[in-house]
Amino acid sequence: MMNRTQIVEIDKKYIWHPYTEMQNYIENTNPVVVERAEGFYLYDKDGTRYMDGNGSWWTSIVGHNHPTLMSAIVERTQTMVNCSFAGTTHEPAAQCAANLLPRCGPSFAKIFFSDDGSTAVEVAVRMAYQYWKNVGRNEKKRFVTLSGAFHGETLACASVSGVEVFHTALGDLIFDRIVLPSPGQPDADFTGDTPWYERAFQVAADLLERKHDEVAAIIVEPLVQGAAGMLMYPPKYLASLRALCSTLDILLICDEVFTGYGRTGSFLAHTQAGIEADIVTLAKGFSGGELPMAATITTQRIFDAFLGSAEKTLWYGHSFTGNPLGCAVANATLQVFDDEKLLESLPSKAAAIAAGLERLSAHPWVNDARQTGIISAFTLIDPRSQNKSGGYLSDAGWRFYAEARKRGALLRPLGNVVYFALPLTVTVSQIADLFDVCEASLQATF
Ligand SMILES: *Cc1c(COP(=O)(O)O)cnc(C)c1O
Repeated sequence: MMNRTQIVEIDKKYIWHPYTEMQNYIENTNPVVVERAEGFYLYDKDGTRYMDGNGSWWTSIVGHNHPTLMSAIVERTQTMVNCSFAGTTHEPAAQCAANLLPRCGPSFAKIFFSDDGSTAVEVAVRMAYQYWKNVGRNEKKRFVTLSGAFHGETLACASVSGVEVFHTALGDLIFDRIVLPSPGQPDADFTGDTPWYERAFQVAADLLERKHDEVAAIIVEPLVQGAAGMLMYPPKYLASLRALCSTLDILLICDEVFTGYGRTGSFLAHTQAGIEADIVTLAKGFSGGELPMAATITTQRIFDAFLGSAEKTLWYGHSFTGNPLGCAVANATLQVFDDEKLLESLPSKAAAIAAGLERLSAHPWVNDARQTGIISAFTLIDPRSQNKSGGYLSDAGWRFYAEARKRGALLRPLGNVVYFALPLTVTVSQIADLFDVCEASLQATF
């Protein structure tokens, strides 16, 4: 067995971490060495307990090591953990499909399994592109995305994303796309009486009315653009967008990898607009945040276009597509939603978060506190900075992170945006603890 120092030493010698400036990491970072996890908490090998404020990159939806999920995993290991998924099928996949689709909405008829959010989006992009080819409309092949959007990391996902910093290294590998203004972030010079999201929709409508013949699909993160900095916008924008897409024959892809599984208050976020998407991607919470497993769901209309000949087939899949262990844990996750009435208990937790945010908003450097369901965030404006944009470029987010870590909470920021992606199983008293840590950390940061 390795001790903590040995683990860190070997890690720094051999391991290349995701989204990490490795030189800085090797020279300056004392990583959390997670030994075990339970519910809302991660435990370092040195005994320190941390609140998992970001939900382990937004995956932890029912808390870590939930007993229902763990026993489903153990039970599955007694029979079969993996097999291929073409010309074969199994009970965990059948259960997962039958259990999940009715919760998503009446139009969803088919499920395609994959491995993570990126592969789920990859499948969605390919489905949308090939759908138009299969129905004889080859010219409809462009994708539309929102400024700041994040849809994952394969090249297709990066191409339909709007986060510029992740793109610069990729150059020509990124395919052509149309970027629309984010309904969650007003242009710097925006003034006017109408809400910004209406203006943003008008820009979308003007552009798509001109270009719809070339457009296969628009992809959006419904209600909350996560990686963009937890930018939030109202369901009305989605309702207008759905109507526009229907009129102009554009497919609507809702990427619910982050917003799905109850976080915004309903099982899927986009249904709050009273609409249904043509294609929906699910990951992160899909497997209770415990295993790499994901799915893309769609309607009968899309599926039917892939029937009839070999050329129309979706020639796509992965080694672990439909993985039985992943399906079993996905089923167990839905079971926890039912057993613990997670959606029903959400409003009291959302209220506790709202109260915490209100407390923090009293601080001069906390700006724009915002919330959708149990997703919440605020932006740090360094009060010593003369202007807001200078404040935004400060490292306040990371200084806050360091202070919160000292006090037992992991709150990795998005720039100067501090956010909370808590499991739906979090308790009201754990939320209060977290906001206590935030308050003390704010005092110490500036
Ligand atoms: C995280 C995320 C993805 C990518 O998922 P991975 O599992 O990291 O590949 C895609 N879309 C959205 C909206 C996400 O939040």
